[in-house]
Amino acid sequence: MADRVYEMLWNCTACGTNGLLGKSQRRCPNCGSPQDESKRYFPKPGEEVAVEGHRFEGADWTCGACTTPNGAAAAFCQNCGNPKEGNKSAKLQTDRIVKDGSLVDNKPKDAAAPKKARSKLPILIAAAVGVVGVVLAFLLLIKKDVTVDIMAHTWTRSIAIERFDAVHESAWCDALPGGAYNVSHTREERSTKQVADGQECHDRQKDQGDGTFKVVNECKTKYKTEPVYDDKCHFDVDRWHHQRDELAKGGLTDAPQWPAVRLAGFGTGRGAEREGTRAEKYSLQLRDAKSGKEHSCDYAEPQWRSIADRSRHSIQVRLLGTAVCESLK
Ligand SMILES: [Zn+2]
Ligand SMILES: [Zn+2]
Repeated sequence: MADRVYEMLWNCTACGTNGLLGKSQRRCPNCGSPQDESKRYFPKPGEEVAVEGHRFEGADWTCGACTTPNGAAAAFCQNCGNPKEGNKSAKLQTDRIVKDGSLVDNKPKDAAAPKKARSKLPILIAAAVGVVGVVLAFLLLIKKDVTVDIMAHTWTRSIAIERFDAVHESAWCDALPGGAYNVSHTREERSTKQVADGQECHDRQKDQGDGTFKVVNECKTKYKTEPVYDDKCHFDVDRWHHQRDELAKGGLTDAPQWPAVRLAGFGTGRGAEREGTRAEKYSLQLRDAKSGKEHSCDYAEPQWRSIADRSRHSIQVRLLGTAVCESLK
């Protein structure tokens, strides 16, 4: 398909006649002044004047001696005879985008000015984050010595109890575990995909520099996000799972012992129970002699045992409030 070609417009600044045609009116029909081809402009959308049978030969050149615009094919200025060589060609106007009869913003995105203005912000943000980080680290590192009294000794021993039983779970059906039963299905959104959704089109108007512009139709495929559904399986499966914790507690004078465990059932059938992981903890309750603030610290059993109840010690406390347990003296 041949390009659609239209007249650029220009205004005569000598006599004030506006809307003159760039291609067919090289001089002002009113006063005879030559066209200033550097100030051509696009017509309003819908007011384009077509150039029939146009043959593009190249952008005009401006005579350096008398400022007359000359067609690319002219070897000499049609006004003063100055040769074409050494003269610069007409400055092109920025492309214009027209969609559904109105203009679309078409500012070049790689303009240097906004980039410069933007470049300082990340540095400022980085600096602010750095300052906050330093202050936070400072607050965490700063410690002061306080006097504390040992208020109580506590030991805790726990045994996790696991039970082999039906657990209700769900999973994508392509990852259904072996042994699943009572399976039911639902359709659920698993992911999304991009699907083509028609064309987005506009006209690009390109200044040709010879008093005309051509219109190029540009289209690209639009996409929309669509959910992808899949089968979700809801099922029961028999497996070992954490059921409860058996707990034993005492003070300095009670010999630490593991809690008595009574399992509800044995073996590997449904309802069977077994012992899981064991954990023990030896804690001291400390009280700030001045402020009365309480702290709790865990130690290895021998150290815990070596510190007497009601004895007085010094310990470091962070500015943010927590005790540095290993600093107890
Ligand atoms: Zn004029
Ligand atoms: Zn000339």
